[in-house]
Amino acid sequence: MGQYQAPDYYLLDELIGDEYRLIRDSVRQWVNRELLPVIEEYAQRAEFPHQLLPGMAQLGLFGPTIPEEYGGAGLDYLAYGIMMQELERGDSGIRSTASVQGSLVMYPIYAFGSEEQKRHYLPKLAGGELIGCFGLTEPDHGSNPAGMLARFKDDGDYVVLNGAKMWISNAPFADIAVVWAKNPEGKVQGLIVERGMEGFSTPETHNKWSLRASATGELVFDNVRVPKTHILPGVTGMRGPLSCLNQARYGIAWGALGAAMDCYDTALRYAKERKQFGKPIASFQLQQKKLAEMITEITKGQLLVWRLATLKNDNRATPAQISMAKRNSVATALHVAHEARQILGGMGITGEYSIMRHMMNLESVVTYEGTHDIHLLITGMDITGISAFGG
Ligand code: FAD
Repeated sequence: MGQYQAPDYYLLDELIGDEYRLIRDSVRQWVNRELLPVIEEYAQRAEFPHQLLPGMAQLGLFGPTIPEEYGGAGLDYLAYGIMMQELERGDSGIRSTASVQGSLVMYPIYAFGSEEQKRHYLPKLAGGELIGCFGLTEPDHGSNPAGMLARFKDDGDYVVLNGAKMWISNAPFADIAVVWAKNPEGKVQGLIVERGMEGFSTPETHNKWSLRASATGELVFDNVRVPKTHILPGVTGMRGPLSCLNQARYGIAWGALGAAMDCYDTALRYAKERKQFGKPIASFQLQQKKLAEMITEITKGQLLVWRLATLKNDNRATPAQISMAKRNSVATALHVAHEARQILGGMGITGEYSIMRHMMNLESVVTYEGTHDIHLLITGMDITGISAFGG
């Protein structure tokens, strides 16, 4: 069917500079060369393609906005967004690994870690020498993480950590986990827990029909003695994990549109080639309606995240604005994927094309990092000043 043509209906390319286009092209080429040829096979087998990690590190996909002195790429938020969009055009699961590593592991260490923690962990995480995971969600506390039960008590130079985290991306193979737990005063704090600490295990979660090329697991803490030097000293309370989510949600707002763009592009090219009743199916009004609505929604989403990047670079993007963009991009992507799948008819359900994999992946993306409903409530609270979360 030919090469991917990134949809750019409103000529947004003109608004981004040459250096960003270079970054985009290098990620795009890597996705074409390294990721696309193998991803379907790994997703079918429900296996994480570990061999992609060094290439991702080399491209600066781990912690793009972390300053170079700590091993990061030292880029701004527009570059970060563009990179996530290209990566998720390939697969949401692989983008999840980059989001977790950069926004949920490196960011909290950078923002709240001691100088020693930053120097010790960040360069190794940026280089892919260490892979991290982020433990916030628990079996009984998903949308309401503040209710978490994981806690630690004091023990001289150590703390003793107990509890369990669930649905943790990268957990089965991560070398370190940034874990959020309550201190003896009941306040949330972040700790860096390392694989190999006694009483720490990471059982894998199987039977997922979504994000199959991303490894998900639990984090179980059974009286794990963690040195006090592993506590992130710079933050106490839910501001810690929520500020990480803000970073990751921003990347998802860009990323999910990448999946949508790939589905649209595939469906458009297929519709122009596939003939029924003696004509390309793209000539039928019903198919044109689908395609026209898809590109309209994608274009609106692209403009939203482009503006959000400017606000984020100016340090003016509010958490509620990021919520709106995350929710809108993922809903757009899911809708586009559903419509695109239908345009491909029977072929749409096969692994010959990326659409069904994107669609299944997006069922996780719409739930993690704040569900579709929760982001709506965040917008509702922001505009009315009234919380409708209950509790
Ligand atoms: P629940 O909170 O039980 O929600 C169930 C339903 O109730 C949802 O539709 C929700 O919108 C709705 N609901 C909840 N509260 C309200 C309300 N007040 N008003 C109206 N409706 C409401 N977590 C991590 O910490 N680290 C990770 O790396 C990570 N990776 C993940 C990877 C995958 C593949 C998945 C599926 C999840 C991952 N998560 C991770 C967890 C994810 O963030 C949670 O699944 C999510 O926050 C929702 O929590 P829950 O599944 O417990 O659903």
